[in-house]
Amino acid sequence: MTATLDQRARSLRDLRISVTDRCNFRCGYCMPKELFGRGFAFLPRAELLSFEEITRLARLFAEQGVTKVRLTGGEPLLRRDLERLVEKLAVLDGITDVALTTNGAMLAGKARALADAGLTRVTVSLDALDDDVFGAINDVGFPVARVLAGIDAAADAGLTPVKVNMVVRRGVNDHCLLPMADLFRHRGHTLRFIEFMDVGTTNHWTLNDVVPVAEILRTIEASWPLQPLQPNHQGEVAARYRYRDGAGEIGLIASVTRPFCASCTRARLSAEGKLHTCLFAAGGHDLRALLRGGASDEEIARRLRSIWIARADRYSEARSPLTARRPKVEMSYIGG
Ligand code: SF4
Repeated sequence: MTATLDQRARSLRDLRISVTDRCNFRCGYCMPKELFGRGFAFLPRAELLSFEEITRLARLFAEQGVTKVRLTGGEPLLRRDLERLVEKLAVLDGITDVALTTNGAMLAGKARALADAGLTRVTVSLDALDDDVFGAINDVGFPVARVLAGIDAAADAGLTPVKVNMVVRRGVNDHCLLPMADLFRHRGHTLRFIEFMDVGTTNHWTLNDVVPVAEILRTIEASWPLQPLQPNHQGEVAARYRYRDGAGEIGLIASVTRPFCASCTRARLSAEGKLHTCLFAAGGHDLRALLRGGASDEEIARRLRSIWIARADRYSEARSPLTARRPKVEMSYIGG
């Protein structure tokens, strides 16, 4: 099968599928409460792609070269019976990896069933270990202990190594870097530090709030010397480092100071069936209309190919204070 390449010869390899725009957290950098409050109109159920529609699209993406599928949201575990979708995706030809990104709030009760259904890996977002700091970040006062219990349950279910994502913001949780690193050393999980990004238009992003990965590296190295590692595969988002004392691995995701658009192989599908070719896209291509309009597999495949071939996204390389203000899709709508 010939890989479908975009305008920068990037192949279509990773599909991120948002299964809901709802979340049980209100993290300020993604879904601030002042906007996503009590009366917010989330997508009605009928507008969400069904598991059958998602599976059909994933099969057609696999025919274009996609091998890795990641389930996201909002918070994907809010979508009922998600393990049924995992089961369908895990048996698709060409799909070798079905992963999940979650805030961990419901993971303890779901990890085993998801693993049994065919889930291969899980990434859990956790931005601090102090309940006051974490509670303020998620803005619903959710306790750290329950997220840690979810991580343990995922490990017990064999979804290892668990990746833990920490979005670092100056003046919010940058003082939590060392306690986080310390907790996950010797645990076999990979802690990844993420530069705060200007996703969407609602998180009041400024460059001053960004802690560059170079600074994060210096902070960690001052306590535990690190050694750079080779990427696991082309297009890997995180730069990998191992602790020289053998205590494990960390990752650094630097969309702001070290953009990685040149090797970006990711497409994103919103819960209502819009295809976005970049996390910072202003809008997406409506695939649901094709699905529900009776289009054949060939017609949809042709559409996927033409969208990807025309793709030239490089937002992070072109980022500026001006671009940060332009309209962009919300991260809670298409997942990270
Ligand atoms: S900014 Fe867009 S093109 Fe660049 S790495 Fe992110 S998703 Fe890919």
